[in-house]
Amino acid sequence: MKAEPGDSGTTRLSSRRGLIKGAALGVALPSAAALLGPVLATPARAATPAASATASATAALPDFAPVPAASFGPAVNSDGYFVGQIKGNLYWVTDSYYQAMFLTTREGVVVVDAPPTIGNNLLRAIQEVTRSLGRPSRVTHMIYSHNHADHIGGAGLFGGRVERIAHVQTRELLRRAADPNRPLPTTTFKNNLVVEVGGERLELAYHGPNHSPDNIFIYAPAYNTLMLVDVIFPGWAPFKNLAESQDIPGWIGAHETAHAYPWTTLVGGHLGRLGIRADLDVQRDYVGDLQNSVRKTLTTMDPTPFFEKYGATGNGWAIFKTYLDAAAQQAAAPVISAYLGKLAAADVFTLENASAMINSMRIDYDVLGPFGNHA
Ligand SMILES: [Zn+2]
Repeated sequence: MKAEPGDSGTTRLSSRRGLIKGAALGVALPSAAALLGPVLATPARAATPAASATASATAALPDFAPVPAASFGPAVNSDGYFVGQIKGNLYWVTDSYYQAMFLTTREGVVVVDAPPTIGNNLLRAIQEVTRSLGRPSRVTHMIYSHNHADHIGGAGLFGGRVERIAHVQTRELLRRAADPNRPLPTTTFKNNLVVEVGGERLELAYHGPNHSPDNIFIYAPAYNTLMLVDVIFPGWAPFKNLAESQDIPGWIGAHETAHAYPWTTLVGGHLGRLGIRADLDVQRDYVGDLQNSVRKTLTTMDPTPFFEKYGATGNGWAIFKTYLDAAAQQAAAPVISAYLGKLAAADVFTLENASAMINSMRIDYDVLGPFGNHA
């Protein structure tokens, strides 16, 4: 994590309001209008065909196990956000779906990420805190955790005078995206970057691809806080397909890298609360249990019915699809029952997580089951 002298990749720097208003998790059940804003906020007349179609679509949706109370974070205010002090001059903001972090300094504010769902509320939160502290409220630096629009698509709200810092690959991916909401970084780094502004310090490190090719670790050593986005989901099962990770072995490895940092507080980028070390432990267990269950399924599940049913038709993809779907069901089942009540939404995304783990075990780890080396 220390800057590496002589490494060309190391640099030292000295120097829809209302979109989800009132729709915060655990605070109130969001109405569709509150979630989707003006699009659906047009007066809904009862008993119109559209209204009854909406009602029956709602009724057809599945029910899931209740979210454990410990998975919720603090309530959001009437504007739809919560801002809280992590420690010292370090703060975090959430709308209960996404999270950003910021550091107040003598010279201005350093923000990490700008999720569009928080949007202008991030500016409000910064104003609120800096005003009460009598510190400068101007955002001078913005750090991108990674290139994904759902975490930095609000960056355009901060104007052009901000120094934007990101990994070199983030710049390449954003260049390709050409998205005005995600302006290109002005400073990039390859391995490590220490950001020092107004007496405060953040250590940025690249440890290889994980959730995305460019996802970085952001560490505030004075406050023992690690921000690592889309890897650890405190209190919750990981998002669909193992957090839609582009490099699953890298994503699994990122748990170990995170473990090696001496943090006590984790900002995971999602949902409504901060993480503690026990949250990392339980997610490592979940991922390990899922991996074991998938391995067991791939090495023991009988593929005969799938070949018998579709082999004669010559439809090879039908064999694969039905086999892989059945394997995901079988591998997910014990993990869902083990984590229900421990991790929120274990019954929501574990099937897709098992499916993603199966693909990774097959192609990254060579656990090919019936599709291994021919005798
Ligand atoms: Zn992402």
